[in-house]
Amino acid sequence: MPDRLVVPFGGNAAPAHWLGKAHLGGKGANLCEMAAIGLPVPPGFVIPTPVCARYHEAGGRLPEALLAKLPEGLAHIEAAVGARFGDPANPLLVSVRSGARVSMPGMMDTVLNLGLNRETVEGLARRSGNRRFAYDSFRRFIQMYADVVLGLDHYLFEDALELMKDDRGVTLDTALTEADLEALVGQYLEIVAKERGEPFPMDPMAQLEGAVAAVFGSWRSERATVYRRLNDIPEEWGTAVTVQAMIFGNMGETSATGVAFTRDPATGERAIYGEYLVNAQGEDVVAGIRTPQYLTKAARERAGAAGASMEETMPEVFKELSQVFTLLERHYRDMQDIEFTVQEGRLFILQTRSGKRTARAALRIACDMVAEGLIGEDEAVRRVDPAVLDQLLHPTLDPKAERQVIATGLPASPGAASGAIVLDSAEAERRAGLGETVILVRVETSPEDIAGMHAARGILTARGGMTSHAAVVARGMGRPCVSGAGGIAIDPETRTVRAGSHVLKEGDIITLDGATGEVMLGEVPTIEPELSGDFATLMAWADRHRRLKVRANAETPADCRVARQFGAEGIGLARTEHMFFDPDRIGLVRAMILAADEAARAPILARLLPLQRADFAEMFAVMAGLPVTIRLLDPPLHEFLPQREADYAEVAEASGVSVAGLKRRVAELHEMNPMLGHRGCRLGVTYPDIYAMQTRAILEAALQQADPPVPEIMIPLVATRRELDLMKAVVDETAEAVFAEAGRRIPYLVGTMIELPRAALVADSIAETAEFFSFGTNDLTQTTLGISRDDAARFLATYVEKGIYPKDPFVTLDVDGVGQLVRLAVERGRGARPDLKLGICGEHGGDPASIRFVAGLGLDYVSCSPWRVPIARLAAAQAALAD
Ligand code: PEP
Ligand code: MG
Repeated sequence: MPDRLVVPFGGNAAPAHWLGKAHLGGKGANLCEMAAIGLPVPPGFVIPTPVCARYHEAGGRLPEALLAKLPEGLAHIEAAVGARFGDPANPLLVSVRSGARVSMPGMMDTVLNLGLNRETVEGLARRSGNRRFAYDSFRRFIQMYADVVLGLDHYLFEDALELMKDDRGVTLDTALTEADLEALVGQYLEIVAKERGEPFPMDPMAQLEGAVAAVFGSWRSERATVYRRLNDIPEEWGTAVTVQAMIFGNMGETSATGVAFTRDPATGERAIYGEYLVNAQGEDVVAGIRTPQYLTKAARERAGAAGASMEETMPEVFKELSQVFTLLERHYRDMQDIEFTVQEGRLFILQTRSGKRTARAALRIACDMVAEGLIGEDEAVRRVDPAVLDQLLHPTLDPKAERQVIATGLPASPGAASGAIVLDSAEAERRAGLGETVILVRVETSPEDIAGMHAARGILTARGGMTSHAAVVARGMGRPCVSGAGGIAIDPETRTVRAGSHVLKEGDIITLDGATGEVMLGEVPTIEPELSGDFATLMAWADRHRRLKVRANAETPADCRVARQFGAEGIGLARTEHMFFDPDRIGLVRAMILAADEAARAPILARLLPLQRADFAEMFAVMAGLPVTIRLLDPPLHEFLPQREADYAEVAEASGVSVAGLKRRVAELHEMNPMLGHRGCRLGVTYPDIYAMQTRAILEAALQQADPPVPEIMIPLVATRRELDLMKAVVDETAEAVFAEAGRRIPYLVGTMIELPRAALVADSIAETAEFFSFGTNDLTQTTLGISRDDAARFLATYVEKGIYPKDPFVTLDVDGVGQLVRLAVERGRGARPDLKLGICGEHGGDPASIRFVAGLGLDYVSCSPWRVPIARLAAAQAALAD
């Protein structure tokens, strides 16, 4: 990569977009690219991302070489716009913005109108013929610079502004006169001098250096760090800085600024979607202080909004803008999120990037773009992030349910959520940490709220439009959001929220419908989502590519049905102990576990057999011929022993022993480490009659089927081949007995889970007995890392925060450790038995990154929760396409 410290674009600069996003940042690369395809982009230059690391390595100082190059970059802009930086007669003003390789909305800081001082402001006043505008720009600049670069609280300036408005008896900023603004500039400069003990920097070059340093500095700010952690963005990427000629959207009624998506980011509909404000600067739209107007007439009419659309007020510019949108979509072959400004009737495109979108929109856009010939099917499959499908699979409000709407705002991000009101980010995190579901309610959100938004189930704001911070971030996170609900008032003193006649306290339950913008009192029931035709289309394309089969972890007929509906190709794990959680069965299972000996167990097993058989028969019927892996009992004892007095009474009755006798038995069975205790096949080794009963139930149920399945009987927590041999003998003997009674045989398989490091190490020997392996990566992670599944939550977050594990290893497979054991077991297992069937059924089976890894190992299938089946199907297709 050439070591260029300043990369010019626009004007007569040579095309530079080939340097790429990694080097120029997403924003910088796109500006270079837009300039190269001839779009009206204000000229500027990019300081590339590697300089960010150099700045931090030098302890927060800009490299000398960069300082020497800045005048060259400025000279390029000066030549292109015909104004000079710092020239009192004809001043050039610039914006300074951050831009990392991927978009980090609201994370990094921006300074506008840079280059203004007491002299240049007069020059701007003369050139624009609008002194009020010049001073308005100056006061905005001082406030922004003081906030972003000098670290002063913006409230200091807002208070001064409010006092000035009170004093003049006006409510709108726009009602302040030129003289008021000039006085305000004086006050702002005094505030800076008083707070800092030194005057505001008036030298434009010093202003520029300060702003560039602040952008680099903000890469390591807490809010950027939190965002990076939540979005897996590496620290070393760094941000680029873009310095660009200022374009003014606040030069009167023929000027405007706006943001737009080339398609509707909520539904994916192919229609221009966006907002604009006449006579305003960019931050006015995003900050949600003034309510923006719609771009198109159709959108305005649909919303019943009063303010005229841009299509009506500036038809010529709107037409040009529409053409730019078409051009940008064709060029990038994706939906774009665009910022634009109109300066005295002239359109400038300030920024374009791939637009964030809901899952529904992602599917529709991918499918529509295939139909429009913009992209191919493979590309459509690659484009949709499997994780976002989760949003589609979330419940929505039951339309028939009673709902008491107490406020309405904008439908900013879809989905429905109920939870306790919390009024700040810290409280959201605290309560969520205690397992409460919460709704974050704010006047408006800012990047400091990211962690709280993430912790919350939904977000409600009193202010802000569809492109406000709250709306954009919530959509990206897949959290339902209602923004700009003007009817609510938050009182931070009493920590209450007023909505109409209701006064709600923090902790009171509300429900949000992010699809309609409604806020409701209490909890409203939800229903399961219906999947659109686009979903089925994309899934069908994905299925064409994937090699991995996708099964589900399920044991109830209802879950099996959901699994099939989502395209599961079998059951990869039926946890038989989960079939006993039912209140009228748990007593029997407890009695079985607590029975003193085989004789005491026999009558209990006899009662359990028909129940199990009926369960399996129903499951086989639902799965109709698809493979079903049934795991024999694996009950970690602490989950199954009686807890309350009533439990003891029930078990005593089921087993015909006294409560006192039972308590003695429970004390005998007490374990220090139940997860490493008498569970898995250890139970079968000590009580083979239990596994024999289960085998009988499985095979008898299979024999009942008109088209019998090939049951896959799975032995859990095996560490040695001998354990498996013993258990297989129990299964085979039982099978012989069942077949003899039935007078016919059916095929069945016996395999094992690989859940212990020892099993992975001796996989070749185990594979001589096992006909299939299923990696139980929950236990394999627990035992390889030596981290208890039940106790990890207390410290694991800190481990991830400190980068000890890049992600929670119980969510995303620890590829370097646990993954290597899986790899080894695959190689050794297939070495001993080439046709060994291989799958994974730990939680990782539904995690896209883990799926990518196991696809590379040549597994036959992944198995995950029914709701994650579509995610796994798409992730498996992407893994195949990436090869
Ligand atoms: C596993 O350990 O990965 C597994 C699937 O079994 P369980 O979660 O039931 O222990
Ligand atoms: Mg397990």
